[in-house]
Amino acid sequence: MIVLSQLPWETQEAVETTRQRVARLHAQLPRWELVVWTAGNVSERVPGADLFVIKPSGVSYDELSPHNMVVCTLDGEKINDGTSPRLTPSSDTAAHAYVYRHMPEVGGVVHTHSTYATAFAARMEEIPCVLTMMADEFGGPIPIGPVAVIGDDSIGRGIVETLRGQRSPAVLMGHHGPFTIGKDGQAAVKAAVLCEEVARTIHVAQQKGPVESLPQDLIDALHDRYQNVYGQR
Ligand SMILES: [Zn+2]
Repeated sequence: MIVLSQLPWETQEAVETTRQRVARLHAQLPRWELVVWTAGNVSERVPGADLFVIKPSGVSYDELSPHNMVVCTLDGEKINDGTSPRLTPSSDTAAHAYVYRHMPEVGGVVHTHSTYATAFAARMEEIPCVLTMMADEFGGPIPIGPVAVIGDDSIGRGIVETLRGQRSPAVLMGHHGPFTIGKDGQAAVKAAVLCEEVARTIHVAQQKGPVESLPQDLIDALHDRYQNVYGQR
């Protein structure tokens, strides 16, 4: 078993800063009302190492701190990271690990059961791209992934097969809920927040009648501008 205290000093330092970031990012999930009880999780890849940091299983959001964030290999195995052996990683760890193994560009993964996005997942309906902010962030509709059960690689495989080569950093796993990815944990959290926001707004819009998707050329132009020009240089 890998023992954190025996890894190179730079790796130990990278693990510590990643733990601090991941603990802080978890506070964003209740803040934006994306989770209840202990559901939901954030993970982030440790820079320069084949490791990632993820939420412990079954620990309430009030009790999360850098010290109880769990460190795992890219196979999803907890390493001897200085936390209690009783502290196990999130039950979604295998899905996060599968994404890191198969999408090297991904540095952060988030999973929630946020209400409006999950309502689309319950109906096996993609979220249509009917808002400019959706074109900006997602570059098209937010797709539905397969119905997969927890316990093996099938959730991770479904996420990767749906998102690989696509613009959307979010997938609604069928009858389950959203998984989002990003270059780091912060980007994946942002995608989770915006996924719920557009799901809520579009749900409200649909109460007034059918909504129409934006034309593809407008989606392309908005997405390109937002991803490449918008914001601080
Ligand atoms: Zn779930």
